[in-house]
Amino acid sequence: MSNDDCIFCQIVNGDVPSRTVFEDDTAMAFLDANPLAPGHTLVVPKRHYETLEAVPEDTAAHVFGALHRLNTAVQHAVDADGANVAFNDGPAAGQEVPHVHGHVIPRFEGDGGNPVHAVAGERPNLSDDELDEIAETIHSQRD
Ligand code: AMP
Ligand code: ZN
Repeated sequence: MSNDDCIFCQIVNGDVPSRTVFEDDTAMAFLDANPLAPGHTLVVPKRHYETLEAVPEDTAAHVFGALHRLNTAVQHAVDADGANVAFNDGPAAGQEVPHVHGHVIPRFEGDGGNPVHAVAGERPNLSDDELDEIAETIHSQRD
């Protein structure tokens, strides 16, 4: 499944150039064109899915396996001290390209960046009862 209007589908199809660092039948990884750090890499399923929820579990596991290996390769390649590995899942979370992609963003001691805790807005003040209810609801909705 491919979407002609999607920039990442165009990269997967070879219609738009990329600095590809990994490719197999299911997944592909390439350097981010507008990197937040040297080595900033994107990992995508080759098929077009807009959000993580839409990705079949076997494909998600495959993409995560690639992400796991690339996280190591990227950090070694640029001699990073760590990395933030994240998906912006949906426009509300800042996703701009509507084709699922995981970011590997190398981090360096003293680089002035922030932890993933900085991505959300104001912290909610949740009671123990509210936390219990959220946990129970998530538990009942898994699968
Ligand atoms: P997101 O906000 O999670 O949707 O991130 C989209 C990312 O895709 C951004 O970091 C962009 O710099 C990157 N990007 C957009 N177009 C291209 C492209 N043609 N090749 C590589 N990366 C791209
Ligand atoms: Zn696409």
